[in-house]
Amino acid sequence: GILDNKVALVTGAGSGIGLAIAESYAKEGAKVIVSDINEEHGKQAVEKIKSDGGEAAFVKADTSKAEEVEALIKSTVQIYGRLDIACNNAGIGGEQKLTGEYGLDSWRKVLNVNLDGVFYGCKYQLEQMEKNGGGVIVNIASIHGTVAAPLSSAYTASKHAVVGLTKNIGAEYGQRNIRCNAVGPAYIETPLLESASGDMKEALVAKHPMGRLGTSQEVAELVLFLSSDKASFMTGGYYLVDGGYTAV
Ligand code: NAD
Repeated sequence: GILDNKVALVTGAGSGIGLAIAESYAKEGAKVIVSDINEEHGKQAVEKIKSDGGEAAFVKADTSKAEEVEALIKSTVQIYGRLDIACNNAGIGGEQKLTGEYGLDSWRKVLNVNLDGVFYGCKYQLEQMEKNGGGVIVNIASIHGTVAAPLSSAYTASKHAVVGLTKNIGAEYGQRNIRCNAVGPAYIETPLLESASGDMKEALVAKHPMGRLGTSQEVAELVLFLSSDKASFMTGGYYLVDGGYTAV
């Protein structure tokens, strides 16, 4: 595969987009550290990858806690010896309220997971990748890294910030053999959207010129490409996989 001999880490890999990314990495030959705050789902993901003939191990971590993310990178190196690829995918949607009514605790929680968590990931991954002599990071942002999500200002702010963080890392590490890019999916069929009502889902579908939501696999294809040597001249970028959502 295109990731033979690589060691890859995916956060939030127990479900949805992260799970598809972890499976794709493993299918392409990477040894994968599946990390999640949900131990049951994370372990199930590892079993699935193994039964498909891949190599994976579970390490529990809450990405909103710096010390847990630091320990996650240490465990990765203990288990597989190095770190070549990291996908910072763990994220939450958060409370839905007008900005003027948004709860202070809700705001902090979303920023803590979606932004601080990605920063902690990048910080400790970069440190380790410098020791390895290089690496690749892919941060999962959203279309809301560039357009509004009415009633979710914390989410929109956090995803815009992830795009900015990614650009900065691209600028800083260009000559250190570390690439870092962000991905912007539109609405994807995942457990995150399962709670949405039929009407709400129809309204969401209508916002995509392709007339449907995306699949986790369609996001994983882009992440896989960016994580591989095929993307060797790409860094600091933000790439959409959005069925045309942001074009209209
Ligand atoms: P999901 O809820 O299906 O999966 C998210 C996973 O992250 C879960 O397994 C959960 O346990 C884990 N997680 C949550 N908080 C965590 C924490 N603090 N530490 C570690 N793990 C944690 O969601 P998904 O739809 O697959 O979303 C994955 C990423 O993609 C998120 O960053 C999300 O914002 C982004 N995204 C999703 C969509 C979509 O429509 N589903 C669209 C654009 C971007």
